[in-house]
Amino acid sequence: MSKGFFNVPVAVNEPVLGYAPGSQERRELQSMLKELRSREVDLPMVIGGKEVRTGKLERIFPPHEIAHTLGYYHQGDAGHVKMAIDAALSAREAWAALSWQHRASIFLKAADLLAGPYRAKMNAATILGQSKNAFQAEIDSACELADFFRFGVREMTRIYQMQPESAKGIWNYNEFRPLEGFVYALTPFNFTSIAGNLPAAPALMGNVVVWKPSRTAVYSAGVIMEIFREAGVPDGVINLVFVSGPVGADVVLGHPSFAGIHFTGSTAVFQSVWKKIGENIRIYNSYPRIVGETGGKDFIFADPTADRQALTVAMIRGAFEYQGQKCSAASRAYIPASIWPDVKERMGNMLADVKMGPPEDFTNFVNAVIDESSFDKLAGFIRQAGKDADAEVIFGGKCDKSVGYFIEPTVIQAYNPTYVTMEEELFGPVLTVYVYADEKLDETLKILDQTSIYALTGAIFSQNRYNIEKYTRVLQNAAGNFYINDKPTGAVVGQQPFGGARGSGTNDKAGSLFNMMRWVNIRTIKETFNPPHQYLYPNFAPDEN
Ligand code: NAD
Repeated sequence: MSKGFFNVPVAVNEPVLGYAPGSQERRELQSMLKELRSREVDLPMVIGGKEVRTGKLERIFPPHEIAHTLGYYHQGDAGHVKMAIDAALSAREAWAALSWQHRASIFLKAADLLAGPYRAKMNAATILGQSKNAFQAEIDSACELADFFRFGVREMTRIYQMQPESAKGIWNYNEFRPLEGFVYALTPFNFTSIAGNLPAAPALMGNVVVWKPSRTAVYSAGVIMEIFREAGVPDGVINLVFVSGPVGADVVLGHPSFAGIHFTGSTAVFQSVWKKIGENIRIYNSYPRIVGETGGKDFIFADPTADRQALTVAMIRGAFEYQGQKCSAASRAYIPASIWPDVKERMGNMLADVKMGPPEDFTNFVNAVIDESSFDKLAGFIRQAGKDADAEVIFGGKCDKSVGYFIEPTVIQAYNPTYVTMEEELFGPVLTVYVYADEKLDETLKILDQTSIYALTGAIFSQNRYNIEKYTRVLQNAAGNFYINDKPTGAVVGQQPFGGARGSGTNDKAGSLFNMMRWVNIRTIKETFNPPHQYLYPNFAPDEN
């Protein structure tokens, strides 16, 4: 029972550490990398607070060094998903009844554990398991995840403060109940922060959760689960299962107590999940909440006034950081012919400097792509672009999977604005550039808006204020996160609430109040202090003669 209106600590973005040579954080991270490489983990599922080992072992290895074994995880089946649902539902009553400040305390503690004693381990697990370099791991698995926890707590209290008016003689209030059932958190490989936030956000709002991480991110998921448990998330509130996507979906989406899905991943998977929910709609006890952030075909549009150096840096960082495996990664660019020769030359110079290799060597800017199927798909598109008449590979293009899944940062020039790599999400270090005739700027803007099914992120580069206003207006629906003279990646929790529309998702803005609202069901309570004792209203009295 709460006895007071409590203020939560002010949420501040976790400072990003630099990892410069000689720094303490660099030493700690390097020694943690060594330690994790020197032993093999035995990673269980966690159901109802118990570690579950099936003996059906799957190998975990770094995408950049496939011969090295980081450990094994225990693969589950449909029975384990059922166990996880039962464990969640058994934990529900106590968790839903717990005063909100104790939920807040748990996730604030999780943030402090992550930013402090677990920082090196969390980053090292992401570096090794998902092939992220130190900087990319730091902004994701340490800082963004801590921000999700801390800002989540703040947003929860802002929601609780959203109360209706009360007229004379009555008192109205909103109670923000957790959903009646369990939430399924279905998470992608590319951001450890998203993997942690998708189960945490509904749990923070009082829900119980079954969490299925991506097969290629189980290593860091294990560390997130350690933090949840050490922070005091009670048994059964978040249950971690290692099953295939279709097995998880079959059991979860066929359960009457399924109350919502918190998804981030590809558009195709999200659409298949939504379809299944539609087919099963009659079996559910309530209408499930469907929150999904999905794919993108994120653009950079430049006009002739653009700052060419800033534009080129944005293209390099936006397209190639984390091997282009950010949902927000720039993957198509529209550059006017008048500045293209200069921009192309700058790009070539920068790319000549970019180093590729394992992330344990801190000087490598580009590391490996996540797995073999992703590698094969990307190599296929690059090969094809080399053959097609309406495209040309102008930088990079080398692919080698002998040691790890390495794809050189690649730039394709498309001579047709609807060339396949201008439209499809490839999810790798491949940027396609379309050079437009300066006099066709307006036409090109329209083409940009209508190319691809997505609307996640986009950036415009111009130094003309009238143009900036025009592009912002014309491209109003082309991106959920829109950048002016900046790269289209790197959204920060609390600063640029993130999400896209059209085929890119439900745009509920992860980490924001808008997202947290989806995990509560509002009960409005009206109390009347002095209720009427007559059933007739005054108008029913007869006229006086
Ligand atoms: P994915 O769709 O392959 O997998 C996401 C999750 O769904 C995983 O846990 C996976 O095991 C599961 N899954 C796979 N097939 C399934 C099926 N048939 N039924 C049910 N579940 C299934 O995505 P990914 O490769 O892990 O991540 C990359 C994708 O995520 C890209 O499309 C990217 O744009 C998107 N993404 C979007 C955002 C955003 O905020 N919009 C953020 C990160 C990633």
